[in-house]
This record gives sequence, C-alpha cells and structure tokens, in this order.
Amino acid sequence: MELGRFAPTPSGRMHLGNVFSALMAWLSAKSAGGEVLLRIEDLDTVRCTAQNTALLRDDLRWLGLRWDREQPCQSSQGARYAAILEELRQRGLVYPCWCSRADIEHAANAPHASDGHTVYPGTCRALSEEERAERMAKKTPLWRLRVPDGTVSFTDGHFGPYRENLAVECGDFILRRADGIFAYQLAVVADDIAAGVTQVVRGRDLLPSTPRQLLLYRLLDAAPPQYYHIPLLTAPDGRRLSKRDRDLDLGLLRQRFTAEELIGRLAHAAGLTDTDRPCTAEALIPAFSWDKVPREDIAIHL
Ligand code: GLU
Repeated sequence: MELGRFAPTPSGRMHLGNVFSALMAWLSAKSAGGEVLLRIEDLDTVRCTAQNTALLRDDLRWLGLRWDREQPCQSSQGARYAAILEELRQRGLVYPCWCSRADIEHAANAPHASDGHTVYPGTCRALSEEERAERMAKKTPLWRLRVPDGTVSFTDGHFGPYRENLAVECGDFILRRADGIFAYQLAVVADDIAAGVTQVVRGRDLLPSTPRQLLLYRLLDAAPPQYYHIPLLTAPDGRRLSKRDRDLDLGLLRQRFTAEELIGRLAHAAGLTDTDRPCTAEALIPAFSWDKVPREDIAIHL
C-alpha cells in the first residue's frame, strides 16, 4: 500500500504554501488508495515550539487533512540518528570537520557550484588520525558525508528526469552540526525508511536536496520512495511567497475563509478543478491526477 506523509516543520504558523504541500501529499496518497503519516520535523528545537506543533495539528484537522498514522517527532529521535551516523562512521563514510563557514568561503581552493554557492573544498577530508584526535580535544566537530564522484539521477513523478553530480554541485555535506543538531538530510531519510514511506510530495525548492537523500538511501541499502515535487506558490507578481507574508498564514486565513473555500481555491489554482468553488479535500480524490498539475509556479491571489 502507498504511504505518503506530511512532514511539517513547526517553526511558525502553517502558511498557504504548507497547506498546498499537505493537500497534494494527501491527495496523491489517498487517490492511490494509500495512507498518510504525520511526522513533526522539529530538529531545530529553538524555533520549533510545542505551541506551533499544537496549532499545526489543529490546522490540518480544520483543513480536513486527517492523517492515518503518526511517527515520533524528530526531536525525540536523536539516539536513532546517532546510531546511523555511527554506522556510517565505522564504514569510513563520514568524517569530522572543524571548518567554519568563513574558513570555507575564504579557502583559496574552494570550488563553486553552478548556482554560485561555495562547495566544501574537502579541507578536513584527509586529516590523519593524530590530527583528528588533537582537534577533537579542543573543539567539537561537525560531521560530513564523503560524497563519491559520479552522477545521481532519478525520475521525479512530476518534474521528470533530474540528475546531479554531488561532488561538483554539493560536496561533502553535513549530517550533524557542531551544536549536536542532526541535519535534515539524515533525519528525513532515516525517518522515511523507518516508516516505510513510499511517496514523498513536497515543494520543488527541495528538488536539489533529493540527490543527497538518494545517496543516503543507497548507503543505507534502502529502497527510495517515489518523489513528486510540486510547483511553488507565488504572489500575483511572481514573487515567491514566504513565511513573512503573514496575511497568508492560517491564523489570518482561518478568519477570512472556510476550509472548503481555501481548498477550493488551491485545487483550482493547481489545475484540479474547473472552478474555484468551495469543496472538501475528500471530494477531490476521485478526479485527482498529477497530469493536471502545472510544472510552472502558480500565482495565487486570495
Ligand atoms: N520539513 C520540511 C519542510 O517543512 C519538509 C521536508 C520534506 O518534505 O522532505 O520544509
């Protein structure tokens, strides 16, 4: 059976973009006769509060997006992530790194990816065991995954073929920060594997993260899910919506619209219905099809 998921980060009130992702994830799983899992991605324990989490659950229920199962929140899963990191370390696949962001920016040999960002130049990749022990005694390191040279490719269920050479475009990426917080890349893969998630639906801003996650699936010898990335919502002028657009968070949207009005408008903007008449998420299941959803970003005016 298909298993989709909601994986929200409760760093603020749910906004329109999150609602769209949740609606599409729910419809994709339900239209395939599957179930939906809820997982609270609260790795950043400073920004993610219990109050935001409570509001998030309430908002999902208000929207009529009920989940069938729930996974423990990520902030409670540190021991599991640590065990996976340790396994990768024993296989020589991760290494400790003491470079600061400034060290990397200023490294003379730092390569740049096609989007201009600095790729980690591998400064700490080949330190000897003595050098590591010496630094370890002075400062807590972060941990990086050794990225092999070669292309990772996959076919997104909505955007089609996608490929990336991680060594060129990304470099050895972080699995655990020096402050102990595990990276999203590690936690999301560990949890989707543990739950048996078969489909991941999320904004296309996470498309470039996918090759990193696929590499982790490969190293952990697990079958990856089918990915469906979705277009982003923009303001009518094409500007990308963000959490700063406070009028689009559910606190205010719930004062202006009913859940059915909001779902009706989003469904119409996503090409799923002919009109923006109010409707429930449930009513959209029979006619849901990825073929109807545009690939271009979606300008929305509420
Ligand atoms: N927690 C992430 C977010 O809210 C989503 C992660 C994912 O869907 O893989 O942006």
